[in-house]
Amino acid sequence: MTESVVRALYGKAKSLNLSSKKINVVPECISRLPNLSVLLLKNNSISTLPNELLYLHHLVELNLGNNALKELPAVLGHLESLKKLYLFSNQITAVPPDVIDGLQNLVVLNLNHNHIRRLPPEIKSLTRLRHLSVLDNQLEEVPAELGHLTSLTEINFTSNNLPSLPVQLYQCKELTKLHVARNKLTSLPEGIKALTKLQVLDVAGNKLSMFPVEFDSLPLKELYHEDNRFVRCEPMSSVQDVEVLMLKELAARFVLQQDRDMSSLVHRMLPYYPPLPELLANGSCCALCLNPFLTTWLECVHFVSVNKETKIRSSKTIPVRAFLCSYKCFNTEGHSYYSVAKK
Ligand SMILES: [Zn+2]
Repeated sequence: MTESVVRALYGKAKSLNLSSKKINVVPECISRLPNLSVLLLKNNSISTLPNELLYLHHLVELNLGNNALKELPAVLGHLESLKKLYLFSNQITAVPPDVIDGLQNLVVLNLNHNHIRRLPPEIKSLTRLRHLSVLDNQLEEVPAELGHLTSLTEINFTSNNLPSLPVQLYQCKELTKLHVARNKLTSLPEGIKALTKLQVLDVAGNKLSMFPVEFDSLPLKELYHEDNRFVRCEPMSSVQDVEVLMLKELAARFVLQQDRDMSSLVHRMLPYYPPLPELLANGSCCALCLNPFLTTWLECVHFVSVNKETKIRSSKTIPVRAFLCSYKCFNTEGHSYYSVAKK
């Protein structure tokens, strides 16, 4: 090891590879390599980093994979030029906010195979991050602030304990790959069609019963969805009583309908009653008649065949959620929306 460092010192090296050298302690003289842009320290037994590392003002890539770190060393928060940081296969349990705050130029962050339970909201400072990988950890939640990371193209949360994903995830509009296999997801948030660049989705090994509304409009090239709890298509007839809508719902439907007409009085007056547009923004529209509704709807499912071009491991038809405005629509003939029988 000393030999490599000495050689690097003389050569004013830009990169230094100290991987698999049985290192416990990173030599402090590394600070005398101010031109270093790549530092590889993987496959060692490193448990701390010397503060001298902060003199590496040009360090772009740091690989600390497969070491003995129990936490993210504080000195990392001062490596402002860092773009790629690999910390896989350590024993890290926490990601301290102040370290994350200092890593604003990160493009790749790999935290695979650690024991992390949560990511701090401060993750929102990583606005240049493109690849975030936290595979095989113990994540129990994902902060809503993930939605600030609008440069993200790949997310990997495979093999964690996530019961849900934040709807803000759909603000990451550059996302092309989303891996959330082997978690505890019971549903994906509504609004997924905002991910107009999503090409690979892996949700295998969760507890999903169906996909969110308009899922079939995504430009997916690969979809992995085996080992879930999807509703099956076993139609049976049922008698549905026509529901009586509450006054609030009736009024909301009327206003929403009127609001579609730019020349209507309602459309022109709504901006003068600020709480109203906010309330009405929660509305949606019927998959059949396309009329609007606010809070009363029928949750239905239809079975959609996946685009022939899409690579897929199991069945070619998938259950996709749909909302209908009323039993009146549901009872019309010639559609393929089913209500879901509760067991
Ligand atoms: Zn309808």
